[in-house]
Amino acid sequence: MSISQLARSIVDSPTLRLNEEARLLRERGLPVIHLGIGEPKNKTPITAILGAANKLNSGDVKYTPTDGTPSLKKAIIKYTEENYNRIVDPENIIVTNGAKQSLFNLIFSLVDPQDEVIILAPYWVSYPEMVKMAYGVPIIVTPKDGSFYPRMEDILEAVSSYTKAIILNSPNNPSGMLFPEEFIQEIVEFCESKGIYLIMDDIYHRLVFDGGKAVPGYHFTQNDIESTKVIVTNGVSKVYGMTGFRIGWVVANRRLVEVMTNVQAQMTSCPATILQSAAEGALNGIQSYVESLRLTIENNRNVVMQELRSFNGIRVNKPQGTFYCLPDFRAYQEDSIELADFLLKKALVVTVPGVEFGFEGHLRISYSGTVKDITEGIARMKWALDPESPREIYIGDRKMVRDWL
Ligand code: PMP
Repeated sequence: MSISQLARSIVDSPTLRLNEEARLLRERGLPVIHLGIGEPKNKTPITAILGAANKLNSGDVKYTPTDGTPSLKKAIIKYTEENYNRIVDPENIIVTNGAKQSLFNLIFSLVDPQDEVIILAPYWVSYPEMVKMAYGVPIIVTPKDGSFYPRMEDILEAVSSYTKAIILNSPNNPSGMLFPEEFIQEIVEFCESKGIYLIMDDIYHRLVFDGGKAVPGYHFTQNDIESTKVIVTNGVSKVYGMTGFRIGWVVANRRLVEVMTNVQAQMTSCPATILQSAAEGALNGIQSYVESLRLTIENNRNVVMQELRSFNGIRVNKPQGTFYCLPDFRAYQEDSIELADFLLKKALVVTVPGVEFGFEGHLRISYSGTVKDITEGIARMKWALDPESPREIYIGDRKMVRDWL
């Protein structure tokens, strides 16, 4: 079969692949615990359900403008004003099928063949693949001090005349780190002065713990929305726990939004009408909903830290946001794919190999699930990896036998 070179070079999404593996094991009746996926267990906000239901009941479910309904855009304008202190126009916004499409459209609209996009490790798995899909070159920058915090000096070394954009995700998937304000300021100022786009993937920006705050990049630029290099992507998936609704958006200058709208028009047309109404319901509804989700996740973070701190041999950084952490398991195994496979087979626990995020020897653990799953999942991992633990245990009615990696 003749498949294009480009398509062949794109790897699958490891998290979606693991979901599928876990689903198949569950179908066989195995009590799998999923610490892989980033998806809160909350119920959809009622205002989102009502928004969608009203639209459906109206029987008027048609195409909307490609870049989103005027009323959803109005809600996004309000959101941008409240959360970013920026007043933007409807022409500065495009609504997409999830933040994933926002990022793809953005990269597709900005990157010429051979243009370089700087991606900071540990990074969300899709960034490098998206850059490749636009025939661009992903340039991965890993902090040389071994931490999860990007450093300007490492980034400066990677910048070249081909650098088109830098992607920033804080709080960060997969490390859970919130980048320091001084770093955000430095990188915004650098990008503005050099004419490099700074794509701020803010999908977790309100899921921050311990009284911290994700400071918007806009705070550090005097440029208005038409001239700033700062571009913001966001969506309802994480902050409202509405992963299945597939609504995201981009805030950028008019010309870029116009181009992205053309790209989207030829690709998917508008996002689904009913789902746009749901997103509008969430954005216009009571926002205490977000705070209660945040508190639940913060509590989960505390549970996961307590469990991991008593896990011999591993090293873990305390996440300041998101619902992920990225412990270092090199004391047990350098190869994170082997380790994740081992834990799935032996302990029936799904984790995501760190190598997928550019950090070999680590595993991403999600604490977006229930406290019960988190505690039991980590207890099983400890059992599987501790040579002193009993050789046999029961998981449900299934006898599991431990053997070494
Ligand atoms: N950016 C990051 C960092 C993410 O983790 C995700 C989802 N896992 C997305 C973007 C995409 O979110 P959406 O569900 O809106 O497509």
